[in-house]
Amino acid sequence: MIELQLTDRAEKLRIEIARFLASHPPPIIPPRAGLTAFVDISREWQRRLAAERFVGVHFPHEFGGRGYSILEEAVIQEELARQRSPQLVGLFGLTMVGPVLLKHGSDEQKRAYLSRILSAEDLWCQGFSEPEAGSDLASLRTTAELQQGKWSVSGQKVWTSFAQYARYCFMLVRTDPQAARHRGLTYMLVDMSTPGITIRPLKQITGEEEFNELFLDSVSVPEEQVVGKPGDGWEIAISTLMFERVVLTFARHLQSEQALSEIADLLRERSAGEKEQEIFGRLIARSMAVRALALSHLVNYSEKPPGPEGSLDKLSWSETFQEICRFALQLLGPRAGILSGSSAHLGGEFAHRYLYSRGRTIAAGTSEIQRSIIAERILGLPRK
Ligand SMILES: Cc1cc2nc3c(=O)[nH]c(=O)nc-3n(C[C@H](O)[C@H](O)[C@H](O)COP(=O)(O)OP(=O)(O)OC[C@H]3O[C@@H](n4cnc5c(N)ncnc54)[C@H](O)[C@@H]3O)c2cc1C
Repeated sequence: MIELQLTDRAEKLRIEIARFLASHPPPIIPPRAGLTAFVDISREWQRRLAAERFVGVHFPHEFGGRGYSILEEAVIQEELARQRSPQLVGLFGLTMVGPVLLKHGSDEQKRAYLSRILSAEDLWCQGFSEPEAGSDLASLRTTAELQQGKWSVSGQKVWTSFAQYARYCFMLVRTDPQAARHRGLTYMLVDMSTPGITIRPLKQITGEEEFNELFLDSVSVPEEQVVGKPGDGWEIAISTLMFERVVLTFARHLQSEQALSEIADLLRERSAGEKEQEIFGRLIARSMAVRALALSHLVNYSEKPPGPEGSLDKLSWSETFQEICRFALQLLGPRAGILSGSSAHLGGEFAHRYLYSRGRTIAAGTSEIQRSIIAERILGLPRK
């Protein structure tokens, strides 16, 4: 049974942000404006929202939040989506490293980073995946050796989204090659301006270069940049992934809502037939179910940290989002494939979104991996 009754405080917050957005409408990012324009506009927008304490309301007051629950964070996200706000640029900080620092970080780390995450002053990237370590993350080979109080990090990361805009990277590295695979890993915070870091952008099917290769050659990282203790990295990484699959997925779910509302405009324009309306109705129902599922999980997080149930959210959201994007293309017909130019519908927004959606069943763990987690850790089925 899913309980969706919100608290009075959450309802008050909803009214407060709705009022704010009525007098401060979100910026509109022109279709196909490019990544740098998105980063600049969204960063300024996040800064504006953070100044009113509408960003990271579940962070403690002293770091710029309100000390509310994660569910109230979801309320904010929903109102932002309703007003077609661009996605907040600081998502890696807000939904991954921020919660990790709150749970595992030292007081100095909290003071140094948390409020700057909320205001988007510092953008973060995630340095987990490597060429030979994606689904099997524990096989990563980037190493760090302790030399006179500093870690020297060498190796290669890949698919590092927004690395070219990030001030810091939260990175998983191997600090004890002798220990068992999961035991010898350490989670550290790396300043992206440190000598020895080379960022090489990778072009995606959207034509954009959102993610990158990251080469690390004897990169010096002070000892106090380790989160937790050396060797604790696996537990901390897993807690990052749990947050990623639940909280980040909820924020991303708003992309489905945005796409559905644009498809509704399209259907109105075209006086949609019964078949199209039926498919659209099904997609709305699926999307509402994804939202209800995610909210039901968020409700629990005031009492316990995210667990494997995030795989249900991530899987159902990413696959529903792909179907929504595919349906939009079917509606548009042959024009759908045009990404830019005067013939492109809405500047190619639907075509771009469809291409973008392909990566969502891979990022944050592939659908196959999510299904295995659900089978083994939620349903208790035997391991193959
Ligand atoms: C858009 C995008 C953004 C990303 N951003 C980041 C980022 O910012 N930072 C970061 O660290 N990473 C990022 N990633 C990387 C992402 O986490 C990995 O791509 C993902 O974990 C899969 O790893 P892989 O690409 O190495 O594929 P592999 O692990 O090599 O998998 C290849 C195929 O084999 C299947 N497979 C593998 N193992 C199993 C198994 N045990 N059972 C069944 N099937 C299996 C997979 O499902 C997949 O279909 C991003 C990826 C994408 C697409």
